Amino acid sequence: MSLDISARSRVFAVVGDPVGHSLSPVIHNAAIRAAGLDGIYVALRVRGDDLPGVVRGLARAGGGGNVTLPHKEKAASLVEEATAAVRRTGACNTFWMEDGRIRGDNTDVEGFSRALKVFLGATPRLGQVLLLGAGGAARACLVALLDLGAEEIHLLNRTPERARVVARRIGGSKTRVLEDPRALSGEAYDLVVNATSLGLGADDPSPVDFDLFGRVGAAMDLIYGPRPTRFQLEARERGIRLADGSEMLIQQAAVSFEGWWGVQPPLSPMREALEKAVRR
Ligand code: NAP
Repeated sequence: MSLDISARSRVFAVVGDPVGHSLSPVIHNAAIRAAGLDGIYVALRVRGDDLPGVVRGLARAGGGGNVTLPHKEKAASLVEEATAAVRRTGACNTFWMEDGRIRGDNTDVEGFSRALKVFLGATPRLGQVLLLGAGGAARACLVALLDLGAEEIHLLNRTPERARVVARRIGGSKTRVLEDPRALSGEAYDLVVNATSLGLGADDPSPVDFDLFGRVGAAMDLIYGPRPTRFQLEARERGIRLADGSEMLIQQAAVSFEGWWGVQPPLSPMREALEKAVRR
């Protein structure tokens, strides 16, 4: 089924470098089509120097877009009206024009939060949580976990200094940085989140040894794909409740869609389009 493009079509793009692997066009075009809206969503490979022009151009032409690696931080400084999610994480992944100003949001925060609720129920019990990673995705997860009322969040990252910076910036009194994986020994977690990029490569090990833990209630991997990561396999082997990153991808796209179009997107066609694209 093709999109109906007209002279009034709104143009949206995911901008990044590289961007050829992005599944956002598949998800958003499925949503635009199913909702009967007049728009199109493409992927644009954009260098850092060109980012300001592309973001302003798309927004001023009545469209908008998503920002992906490595431009999310730069985009946060470009937008004229930043949501709390952008201010707290220092990263922007969504932009559009609103009341004559370029508005920026970081929909990974609400996207993670909604995906967690789909996974664990509307009011997930988050006592002690382990968050692996300290990059852009981990920052979004940390903000969401704090807002969801997690009682204590342990941050573990390959480079502890980066985790310390994240904890100082976002974490407050509920966040503790683990300096060494051995500190996990015997610990009990309601939730373990993989927000590292370990698992993107087919031969990547798990970012954490599940045998160290005393107990794990649930595990969530931000990575999604046609084959399970080591993290997912190891959680599953131990009978731990598990979710991959596909629902977060859908939910962060849904939040972007709501900002651009002012209506809720139809989630089922988005999920179906993603599943089909991942299988391909
Ligand atoms: P990023 O900013 O580049 O951060 C990467 C993180 O992974 C850092 O904490 C880094 O540790 C860690 N890491 C990388 N290689 C490692 C290795 N060999 N061993 C241990 N740790 C390693 O990336 P990001 O934007 O946060 O994204 C992280 C992952 O989340 C990616 O896989 C991305 O695809 C996924 N993601 C998914 C969604 C979704 O909707 N499902 C949304 C956003 C991101 P150092 O600090 O030590 O380098």
